[in-house]
Amino acid sequence: MLRQKYRMTDICPPSITRSSCSSLWRALSNGWSKFLQNIAWSVGNGTSIRLFDDVWIPSLGPLYAYTREPHFASLNISITDLVTEEGKWNNTAPETLFTDQAVKHFHNIKCPNPLDGDDRCIWRWTPKQCFDLKNAYTKLAESFWALKQSIWPIIWHLTVPQRIQLFLWMAQQQKLMTNVERCRRNLSNSPSCPICCNHAESILHTLRDCDFPKQVWSKILPEPLVHPFFSMNINQWLPCNLSSNFLHHSLVIPWKLIFASFVWKLWKCRNNYVFNNDGASEAEIIHRSIAWAKCYHSNIPPLTGKPVQLLSTNPRWIAPKPGWFCINVDGSISASSQLGKIGGLVRNTEGDWIVGFTKTTGISNILHTELWALYEGLKLSWDFGFERLVVYSDCRQAVELLNDHMAGSSSLSLVRAIDRIRRRSWITEITWTSREVNRPADRLAKLADPLDFSLRIFNEPPLEVTLLVDNDKSTPLERNPHPSQIKSSRPTGNPKNSLTLILKKDS
Ligand SMILES: [Zn+2]
Repeated sequence: MLRQKYRMTDICPPSITRSSCSSLWRALSNGWSKFLQNIAWSVGNGTSIRLFDDVWIPSLGPLYAYTREPHFASLNISITDLVTEEGKWNNTAPETLFTDQAVKHFHNIKCPNPLDGDDRCIWRWTPKQCFDLKNAYTKLAESFWALKQSIWPIIWHLTVPQRIQLFLWMAQQQKLMTNVERCRRNLSNSPSCPICCNHAESILHTLRDCDFPKQVWSKILPEPLVHPFFSMNINQWLPCNLSSNFLHHSLVIPWKLIFASFVWKLWKCRNNYVFNNDGASEAEIIHRSIAWAKCYHSNIPPLTGKPVQLLSTNPRWIAPKPGWFCINVDGSISASSQLGKIGGLVRNTEGDWIVGFTKTTGISNILHTELWALYEGLKLSWDFGFERLVVYSDCRQAVELLNDHMAGSSSLSLVRAIDRIRRRSWITEITWTSREVNRPADRLAKLADPLDFSLRIFNEPPLEVTLLVDNDKSTPLERNPHPSQIKSSRPTGNPKNSLTLILKKDS
């Protein structure tokens, strides 16, 4: 509506400032340059994207910073100028224009295609390339966060309820509403302690130095801690006690849990007394605090032991039903080079090898690499003329994205392209499978040559996967049930295991 009102025809103009406008539009104009820094292009037909000046490789930014010769950056060319007549990236142009590092990112971007529709603006920083308020806030605020405060992990790793963690955090930030703080905010005239009336009611006074807490602490404090305990300032007192693993001699509980339990109870007790005139005795506070500390201590999960087994069944490859073919695809990221590698294999209902592929996709994230595997797998299967195809991937996120009814308008160009392939005149199902079952595809992906960005086809299984394929073939094969039966026939109880969608012929 605002775009219409202000006649904003460009998707992403450099400025949206107008001489006369509403206060909303003015606010948008003020933040526009900051907003633009977080926006990138998702490649469709490529016609809107300038090769050097626009951000279309989200992790790199504008490519003028990566040219081999500085004067290249002044060339006014579109990314479509690097596409051949066959619709593929020009083999030599990227290597001529850009540094080796940039070229590795380049091959992760899907080539523009006139059928892919207009280029789209996307949020640059999330794997799904969708705007996310949390991520936007992080990008705006992270430069002035005090990330290195050592008290953060100390408090947030304590095995106490979240409300106590929050209370400790407020105390550390000196935000507890004591009379000193209320005076500072002009909410009160007197900072003095309403109980002893002798001192200002600061956080330390409330939790340690007033008569009542002082007596409580002196009854519970282990002897070696007494002197330092009462001599520290607030910035030392909380971190020091909350990180102490000193085992209380009679309770056999780490001191930090006892301490957290006591400060919380003392704070609650004081509030109850001041606002409700309802006090508690020292004995009651000590008894309750220790009981809770024991409870927190016994709730700590054991550090060792077997992880919980989620699937009780023995997962194995399921053969497609007669008349169908199946393809298992997988993608992985090399830990050293960050290059994505993909692989996949097509089998028939008897488990026979039909065709396989591998490819290196460029520097990428795992979701994008898995989508590449699905894209290349589907393209190859279409070229082979299969009419019915089940696709197995072990990436739940990718399967969900592709089975979403809005896949055709996704921010991710690969999702849009896959959706377009699926709408051709054939029937495809995309289904999640476990990693264990997907091992042949995983092994194939790892065979991809990191120096070769072209697709490599295998008409026979490579030696490294022969055994895995034979193994799947030799185990009794279970026919892939009709999609409508999948939910009731799988005993795992997880409905996400049967994510499946059939796209009917539309032409
Ligand atoms: Zn007092």
